[in-house]
Amino acid sequence: MAVSYAREQGYNNYIFYNPKLKEQFTDTIRLQNDLYKALKSGELALVFQPKVRFQDKTISGFEALLRWNNPEYGSISPSKFIPLAESNDLINELGKWVLDEAIRNLAVWSSHDLDIKPVAVNLSVKQLDNINFFRYAEEQLFTAGIKINMLEFEITESLFIENLDQTNKIMQYIQSIGFRIALDDFGTGYSSLAYIKNFPFNKVKIDKAFIKDIPADKNATSIVAGIISMAQNLGFIVIAEGVENENQAAFLRKNNCDEMQGFLFSKPLPPDEVAKLLF
Ligand code: C2E
Ligand code: CA
Ligand code: CA
Repeated sequence: MAVSYAREQGYNNYIFYNPKLKEQFTDTIRLQNDLYKALKSGELALVFQPKVRFQDKTISGFEALLRWNNPEYGSISPSKFIPLAESNDLINELGKWVLDEAIRNLAVWSSHDLDIKPVAVNLSVKQLDNINFFRYAEEQLFTAGIKINMLEFEITESLFIENLDQTNKIMQYIQSIGFRIALDDFGTGYSSLAYIKNFPFNKVKIDKAFIKDIPADKNATSIVAGIISMAQNLGFIVIAEGVENENQAAFLRKNNCDEMQGFLFSKPLPPDEVAKLLF
């Protein structure tokens, strides 16, 4: 157990065994098993959070966020179970479920003659290794009669740093099909400006860790204003996430930010609530 924990933390590590490790280990295994069952038994759901343009207050699209409602533990946060799924192959099945569900919802809204908007799906590192996933996405959209640009992807910078060449190749391919890609959580990961210069992104999402401190904190305002102007100069659309109040929105508007997402406009919504916003 100690060895496997030490490995998880990276190379050149040591951990001493203690009885707590066993408890954690059993909890993790149990949660993993439950997650696997959840996939099959309908305990997972997607909610959709709108993104809004500052310019005319129209909705530019939605981000699909995963929810797990477990009968025993209640609602479990994706920040807890996504890393768990990432530590084994479950993330690929989970990712496929999310993709299918996002496309299914697009098809339902579309069949009700609603004016559908692009839905962005979050990707994990392992999914970027698999080009077939994106071919599958393309096929499924085609079958559902939904335009390619109605599906987008969000990638966290911390994850694509690991495998540069492979990631670049796959991203080029994704772009060539016509999918748009957002760089998620910008500023918090292993931020390297070279990456936003060299990778084919369309959008940059400023992490909510910075938004939460504007406009009071001088450092945060400088960073946010700097990211907006730099990213726009590079040709990206800039989205601020975690916008919770009018002061934050006012600062972002004044600094020409393109879009915002956050509780100020709307929480993540179940599909039927989304339908009410699409007309
Ligand atoms: P994220 O991609 O950064 O998603 C934004 C998170 O911020 C969401 O948390 C959202 O509910 C929350 N949020 C939205 N507006 C506000 C706000 O105004 N204030 C605050 N404080 N929070 C706000 P959530 O849904 O718990 O998701 C957490 C993370 O889990 C996501 O972070 C994403 O990295 C990951 N995740 C969620 N769904 C998926 C998925 O389908 N696949 C993968 N690979 N990761 C996912
Ligand atoms: Ca995201
Ligand atoms: Ca984020």
